[in-house]
Amino acid sequence: MFDKILIANRGEIALRVLRAAKELGIQTVAVHSTADAEAMHVKLADESVCIGPPPAKDSYLNVAAIVSACEITGAEAVHPGYGFLSENAKFADILKAHNIKFIGPSPENIRTMGDKIEAKRTAKALGIPVVPGSEGGVADVATARKVAKDIGYPVIIKATAGGGGRGMKVALNESELEIAVSTAQSEAKAAFGNGEVYIEKYLQKPRHIEIQVLGDGQGRAVHLGERDCSLQRRHQKIWEEAHSPALNAAQRDEIGGRVARAMQEMKYEGVGTIEFLYENGEFYFIEMNTRLQVEHPVTEAITGLDLVQEQIRVASGAALPYEQSDIQFSGHAIECRINAENPMTFVPSPGRVDSVHFPGGLGVRVDSALYSGYRIPPYYDSLIGKLIVSGKSRSECLMRLRRCLSEFVVDGVETTIPLFQKLLGERDIIDGHYDIHWLEKYLAKLQA
Ligand code: ADP
Repeated sequence: MFDKILIANRGEIALRVLRAAKELGIQTVAVHSTADAEAMHVKLADESVCIGPPPAKDSYLNVAAIVSACEITGAEAVHPGYGFLSENAKFADILKAHNIKFIGPSPENIRTMGDKIEAKRTAKALGIPVVPGSEGGVADVATARKVAKDIGYPVIIKATAGGGGRGMKVALNESELEIAVSTAQSEAKAAFGNGEVYIEKYLQKPRHIEIQVLGDGQGRAVHLGERDCSLQRRHQKIWEEAHSPALNAAQRDEIGGRVARAMQEMKYEGVGTIEFLYENGEFYFIEMNTRLQVEHPVTEAITGLDLVQEQIRVASGAALPYEQSDIQFSGHAIECRINAENPMTFVPSPGRVDSVHFPGGLGVRVDSALYSGYRIPPYYDSLIGKLIVSGKSRSECLMRLRRCLSEFVVDGVETTIPLFQKLLGERDIIDGHYDIHWLEKYLAKLQA
């Protein structure tokens, strides 16, 4: 096991990793930008190193500064959290060259799954069903037209290097195709420095269902069930649950088993998530995330596993000590992402948090780096906390969530809490009847 690890992240996830490490008896090193000198992850770490000015590209994405911080402090491994450098194969390469362990999969696996076209190809070859679409990138409108005709409209144009819901454009018919392709290309170029796009059939009422996997890099891998992340705005998740209200145990075992076998074949190391759209009883692979996800706590709640500790254990060389049949699911869990944003327009609301009060009690977990008097900087993601409730059943979770949201206080900035309170009054949410377009339609109705 490692003696000391460096956490190359900030906010709630830096704290989450720090807690897991402390419980394993591992020393922690925090890194921070000058904007985060007063952040909670810095206060709680054993050591901290300032790695640059506020913009992420000069600090949390500053590879040279992070490697130096490892060398100065003697950290043997780096946990990248999510976002920032967590899916950067080059970063994983550089750490390897410096004899520092990257807590995550091999650079090869990150590279393959990070390119969305290559990922789809690999998934298909490993027996995972994919969304119908172009075989590779589409370079021009003529090719796009041909593919779209074959698979049928509507279609979605997506960036090969995409992420965070950006660079996606829908074309309902041929007349919309040309403009959709060129806007997707230019958005992709601007956001990711790579303008390549591909085409997929646009599914009209799917759910987003993803499978959590855990592998030891030595050929053993298990799945930890699914999460339903269908409640999204601008293709970004805001509410996640495990299990999905739409799946039964047989369906879970079937798709989970398939994915776990694929991960065994890849010799996948660490945690990862295979994302699917699910419509009319069929699964369609859309992408794989080769890192810890924001919504991992709902899986922890129903499996009793600490996914970050599992990551650290396999990174230190341990083999997975259990098999699929050892993974037991119990109860239900729901996570709400608390963002510092206007709950209707989602315009960020950074600034001073005058006071905070977190809900508590049985089956309640709050992952947050907030404290009274903390100033939310304007430079980073607006996620300021996650409220996770768990219970014996989905209906127990809904009751608990209602109670927790009424206790949750964040004074001084706007948050998404009122939106969740509203959602809990909706029949479709109570019944679990929602697809990936539900929330957008609901918000449009509210604003009309
Ligand atoms: P990103 O990496 O940017 O998150 P994904 O490929 O994971 O992109 O897609 C994000 C979301 O976009 C999905 O959860 C879904 O809501 C929507 N989406 C992606 N592909 C399709 C598709 N073929 N049809 C309908 N919606 C899609």
